[in-house]
Amino acid sequence: MKTNSIGSVDTTDLLTCVSAAPSSSRATSDPENALSGATSSDTATAGSPMPRGASTQCVHGGELRQKSEGAIATPIYSASTFTFESTDQLLDFVEGRQQREEYARYGNPNEKVVEAKLAALEGAEDAILYSSGMAAIVGLLMSRLSAGDEIVFFDQCYHRSREFCSKHLARFGVVTRQVPTGDFAAMEAAINSKTKLLVSESPTNPHLTCVDLEQFAAIGKAHEVETLIDATLATPFNLKPIDYGVDYVLHSATKYLGGHNDLLAGVICGRRELLDPIRALRGCLGSVSSPHNLYLLERGLKTFALRMARHNDNGLAVAQFLENHPRIERVFYPGLASHPTHAIASQQMRGFGGLITFTVKDADWKASSRVVDAARLARIAPSLGGVESLIEQPLVMSYFSYSPEERASFGIADNMIRFSCGIEDPADLIADLDQALSAADE
Ligand SMILES: *Cc1c(COP(=O)(O)O)cnc(C)c1O
Repeated sequence: MKTNSIGSVDTTDLLTCVSAAPSSSRATSDPENALSGATSSDTATAGSPMPRGASTQCVHGGELRQKSEGAIATPIYSASTFTFESTDQLLDFVEGRQQREEYARYGNPNEKVVEAKLAALEGAEDAILYSSGMAAIVGLLMSRLSAGDEIVFFDQCYHRSREFCSKHLARFGVVTRQVPTGDFAAMEAAINSKTKLLVSESPTNPHLTCVDLEQFAAIGKAHEVETLIDATLATPFNLKPIDYGVDYVLHSATKYLGGHNDLLAGVICGRRELLDPIRALRGCLGSVSSPHNLYLLERGLKTFALRMARHNDNGLAVAQFLENHPRIERVFYPGLASHPTHAIASQQMRGFGGLITFTVKDADWKASSRVVDAARLARIAPSLGGVESLIEQPLVMSYFSYSPEERASFGIADNMIRFSCGIEDPADLIADLDQALSAADE
């Protein structure tokens, strides 16, 4: 094994699992093409599975130490197809002697780097990127489920995930069973011989409920049913579901991982043997990102750990401020002792993220919307996890088309506001919310 160094950092044992990442296992006959010629000792992070700090993984994970033309940043490989010099070279590829790119629907060099970086961050063997978080969810469910199969999921979840299961998977004969979030007895009771997958978010959107992952994974193992956690709100900085035995970890990389409100992407992380058939289906679905989009994601990931530390600090500071504000009825934030799953969150998570949901005291939907409108710093938009703070009223933003009864069943109150802390100065965010709350009072 080659000994590399990055500044004063010895990289011989840098980073978990990068040696298992997609770009690193390939052999090549073309030494000039550094990217397709990656072997484990060529990556910036090659070596034994010794986990290193998240920031180091963000900067170096999954990347080749020496890139094409000596470029320090990964070049953007803008190509829909990849040429073969001869039929012999093509045979080397189709017969598995050489791993390389073929056609961009099956992968491209920019994607390989980002997948390896995300696998490193997650502590996973492999990662598959998609064009959005929803594309990742659809890609996984379509791969794992067939007519007659069943899935069980905790009922607090991203509304489009729920919609895909209840409206669309149902058309293909897949039965979805919803049980109350965190009710493991109900989950176990819903499992039968047709059950193929248990699904949950942690924390959930928008109630920030944290699920005991040890129990969740144990139920899956006991019943021989696979488990999936959508950990978009936690991110690999704050939570590592794989450490608890969860099979699939999913993220909307649109949120904290990309982090700049400028791209859509999704990722599934897990063991390679489980991911291989999902990747094969993605080749049919075609839900891949452009090289330019992937470059943006790679760039965003360089500062992911730095940003998360600030999102965590801002989230806690703003949540504490809101909890003590006379105009606030209730705050949902897992870092607060008042949150019903604070104990689980404290055990499992390194930090609690930047998303806060709160309700305004004695306010109907209109009075609550005045708080949203009075914010001067935060912008009104869906999404979360970007550098810019965002504010929204779930009733109007994501749940407008639902009946009051449906909204009540999802726990979406009329006076509920969701605030995604960006990375601005916490004092400025607090001052802005303070003025918005008093302005809306007049
Ligand atoms: C945003 C989000 C998704 C969907 O991701 P997109 O990138 O918008 O497709 C899925 N799950 C959660 C928890 C989300 O917040």
